[in-house]
Amino acid sequence: MSRWIERTRLDDASTVLRRALAEGFFREGTSAALFHDLGRVRARFVELETRFPAGTLHAVAVKANPVVEILRALVNAGAGLEAASFEEVRLAIAAGCPASRIVFDSPAKTRDEIASALALGVHLNVDNFDELDRVASALGNTRPPPIGLRVNPQVGGGSIALTSVATRSSKFGIPIERRDEILAAFEAHPFLSALHVHVGSQGMPLETLVEGVARVHSLREDIERRVGAGRIQTFDLGGGLPVAYRPDDVPIPLSAYVDALKTKIPGLFTGDLGLVTEFGRAIHATAGWAASRVEYVKQAGDERLAVIHLGADLLVRRAYRPDEWYHEIAVLDADGRPKAGPTEPVTIVGPLCFSGDVLAKGLALPCIDPGDFVVIHDIGAYTLGMWSRHCSRGLPLVLGYDGDTLSVLKNRETPDDVVTFWSR
Ligand SMILES: *Cc1c(COP(=O)(O)O)cnc(C)c1O
Repeated sequence: MSRWIERTRLDDASTVLRRALAEGFFREGTSAALFHDLGRVRARFVELETRFPAGTLHAVAVKANPVVEILRALVNAGAGLEAASFEEVRLAIAAGCPASRIVFDSPAKTRDEIASALALGVHLNVDNFDELDRVASALGNTRPPPIGLRVNPQVGGGSIALTSVATRSSKFGIPIERRDEILAAFEAHPFLSALHVHVGSQGMPLETLVEGVARVHSLREDIERRVGAGRIQTFDLGGGLPVAYRPDDVPIPLSAYVDALKTKIPGLFTGDLGLVTEFGRAIHATAGWAASRVEYVKQAGDERLAVIHLGADLLVRRAYRPDEWYHEIAVLDADGRPKAGPTEPVTIVGPLCFSGDVLAKGLALPCIDPGDFVVIHDIGAYTLGMWSRHCSRGLPLVLGYDGDTLSVLKNRETPDDVVTFWSR
């Protein structure tokens, strides 16, 4: 199977968890850990490099997983990084990413952030016409880094409204229906040399992703007819490739996406255009899984509840929009071995003090006991990076593995660390 769509099998999680136990990572006070398969992340990056033309800048979205050591592993493999905020630009630098391989995409860049980004020399994608004016005045006569215009292709939403960014009135980019103003902007600002599109994240059909890229690419010809051939040096196609979370979701191989782009938009691949990608979820989501000790098992009405140490703090979307977001959940015994025996329904609840902190209701799992481990699959993207401080529990330990080596990517937050966080 292509490593692009490969997922963590429970047997593999069991092996890694047992190693983590043997190496003493679950010492007193550590009840849960997140695991990230760095080997798989690197393999995915290699696949990106082989499918796209040589020289493409693959800027992985920092917001999908901002752990600096995970970013560093990507940078060491040759990736660039995409920043959704100035803080993420700083995280990219901390991970050792050269400025020329950082893409800065926030929709709310301040004047100071724009000036700093230009001084650093990061790629910058301008979100709106007012920002474009700010960039123009900040540039003066300095030689600009690559600067692009983000265009909303208005192809409509996917199946998840909150992650659809290409509806007619999305808050991101300049709507493509303002074509004349876009052309005029390229005419007025010779420093604009790139087009940027990002169609969405999860819930987007492949056809919609490709249609969005195609619409924005169609601007290139119009712009070049107006202001001269060769003006668009760089085309940034964003990220948005969905992943399979449910057993019956059909994963999309990277090859299918690239083949569809090649068929529909051959002009992207003629070699005279620098390409940038910004994948996040597809790189990380199924490379990460979590393991939490079961603290209590209790009966409430007709339900058996297993109380674990990760809940709506880690899985904000799952807890608040359970119809849209899903994670497979399994159980291992206290030593990290698969459990056998007849299944019985159990509801997995998190540690927070509100009743919506439920990860799954009535799952059929082998009988769960206190001290067992609950494994939550596919948590490598948009989980720790969206951590909720509700109830002030500390961020969990993050471990990385690569073949047989297991290492700490981020220490757990202690109660003292949390006091510091909330203090002046
Ligand atoms: C979030 C985001 C991405 C990454 O999207 P994925 O769905 O994780 O691939 C890329 N580009 C921009 C501008 C984004 O906001």
